[in-house]
Parts: sequence; structure tokens; C-alpha cells
Amino acid sequence: MSTTEVTAAVDALEALAAHTSTSTSAPLARVLNENFAVARERILAGSPPKLVIAELQANLARAKKDVEKGLKAWYAALGNVGKSVDKSFPPNLSAISAAYDDPPLFVDAAASKALDNIVLDSLGQRGLWDSVEAFEEETDLHYDPDKRVLSEELYRIVRDIEAGNFSSAIRWATENKDFLAAPPHPSSLPYHLHRAVFLSITDRKEALAYANAHLFVYMSTQPVLSLVTSCLYGVADDSPYANDAAPLASMFTTDYCRRHGWAREDPLEVVVDLGSRGGALNAIEKARRVMGERLGNVRKWEELPMEVPLPASRRYHSVFVCPVSKEQATDSNPPTMLSCGHVVARESFTRMVKTGKRSAKCPYCPQETSLTSAQRLYF
Ligand SMILES: [Zn+2]
Repeated sequence: MSTTEVTAAVDALEALAAHTSTSTSAPLARVLNENFAVARERILAGSPPKLVIAELQANLARAKKDVEKGLKAWYAALGNVGKSVDKSFPPNLSAISAAYDDPPLFVDAAASKALDNIVLDSLGQRGLWDSVEAFEEETDLHYDPDKRVLSEELYRIVRDIEAGNFSSAIRWATENKDFLAAPPHPSSLPYHLHRAVFLSITDRKEALAYANAHLFVYMSTQPVLSLVTSCLYGVADDSPYANDAAPLASMFTTDYCRRHGWAREDPLEVVVDLGSRGGALNAIEKARRVMGERLGNVRKWEELPMEVPLPASRRYHSVFVCPVSKEQATDSNPPTMLSCGHVVARESFTRMVKTGKRSAKCPYCPQETSLTSAQRLYF
């Protein structure tokens, strides 16, 4: 959940408090007192009261305008805090939960156990063993001991990597080298681990010996030569040959999870993230509020009635939207490629074929495609 926007809005509000023109009512009181004091003295000194009071009114009107200006900034900043909170957190969780409670959620034993299992798994996947044990006591569920051993190994190695010690990771990569090198997605983890060790060696001769022993085997797939020669240019931060640190801990986690058939990301985290930061819950709630009864029971929706744009990291597969019907392709209405290479949904294509004809003209170019030569595409 992103709270950076909230922090920024609160900071802006606090900055106003530090500014003398907007900070407290003190300036207002001062302006009033000063003006009243001056006016009183002038009247006592014999100035015509009518004139003095007219001037006093003008001065106060000006002061009031200044104060209003300051207040406007306050209200704007305060409004921004509210808006950022609304944006970062789903609105009114209890009302939302009530709307989704028909039929009630997680009441039957199987559903409630499934939910507990997901929570337990999530705690284990984060290495929070104290919480895992407390949860086990409360629910009678048990975290798979084999999985715990593996999960602990994963955390131990990740901690080593973060501390700049790559030997345990390299040992693991060596033990699993056949798996890591296997097609269709051979991993570049071993190269990046050795690269990190190479970059940490300050003695050039020693570094070169390390490269000879461990890096040159990756010549065919990795930029080993430019890595090794880049060290000739020293370690200046602004050097165009500077080597950025690779995100080794997350690379390692990805391969470790892949090795054991685990999801790379904690499923519970993914779901919560999509609902909150991804904005899905906000979008659903807005639609429910605006459309009300017409949308029917939220729990019976087959698909969302509106588009929810997700962060790029949460897009797992490509989707095809037919340029003719603007509908998203499905298994029963798949993307279909015409002879010319243009792609439409199959239903759009069959609609384009006029009765009695065996072919249709492409909507984008003059080429005809016969019913038999249109091909289904798989993304
Ligand atoms: Zn075409």
C-alpha cells in the first residue's frame, strides 16, 4: 500500500504551519491590536474620528483579505491530505465488507480453512516463524516442516546476499546448476553472483584470476569482456563503465521459488496489493455506489463491469481486444488472424462474412480471407 502521497500531503500541511503568514491566529490578533492602538492614539491626539475610523476599516479589510488568502492555502492542503488518504486506502472497509457478505464470506469450514492456510503460508513465506507458531496454536493447522526447512534456507541465503556475502548463494547455485541452466528459461543467476564477487575484489590481479576461473565460461551469453575491462577504468561513480549492483536478492528468490515450484510472490500479498494499491477495491466500490442495484450482487459478477488499470508489475498475461467489436478475446471468442496478418476476434470475423459467401474482406486492408484460412492465435 502506498502511503508516500499521504506523507507528501501531510508534509505540505506542516510546511504551512511553519510559515508566519499561515501559521496561527497570532498574526490576525497582532494586526487587529496594532490597528486599534494606532486609531485610538490618533483620536486621542485630536484627529477627526470619522476619518480615523474609515482608515481603520480599510486597514482591517486588507488584513482580512490576507488572512483569507492564508486560510485558502490551509483548506487546499487539508483537502489534499483527505484526497491522498482516500486514494491510498480503500474507503469504508466495513461497508464494503457488508456489501460482499451476501452470502456470508468464509463461513463454511472448507473456505475458512483455506483462508487460514493462505495466511499461514504467507507468514511462512515471509519467514515470520514466531507468528507461524502462534497461528498454528490458534488454528490447529501445521506448516509443512519440509517447506519450513527450505524457507529458512531461502531467508538465510537472502540475508547473506544482502550483507554482501555471496558464498552460500554460489554454493546453492552450484548444487542446482543443471536446473538453473535448463531450457526454456536458463537463469543468469550464477553469472550475476560471480560478477558480484568479481566486483567486490579490489586487487586487480586477484580479480582477473577470479574472472578467469569463474566468469569466462559465460562469455557466450553475458557481457563478460566489457565487465572485466570496465574495471580498468576505476570505480568513479560517474564512470560510464560503472557497474550497477544487480538486484541479486530478488533474482535469487525468484530462482529458489522456481526450483521448488512455489509462487515467486506471496499470493496473499498479491491479492491485497491488487485490491488496495492496484485500486481494484476502490473501482468496484465506486461502481457499486454509482450504479447501485443495477449491478446486482457484487459476489455474482462474472467479470468487473469496468476497467481497472493495474501497475505494470501486476500484469501477468497479454490481453487481446478486438479492434472491430472492442471486446476482449476469450476462449470462446479467440483472436483470429486473417490472411493479411491483421487480427480480429473470431465473432467479428464470422459477422464480416456475408450470407452465402465463403470469405470476408479485412476491415483494415483490401485483402480477402476465406473462412478456412483464418487462424486462431494463442498469446
Ligand atoms: Zn488486413
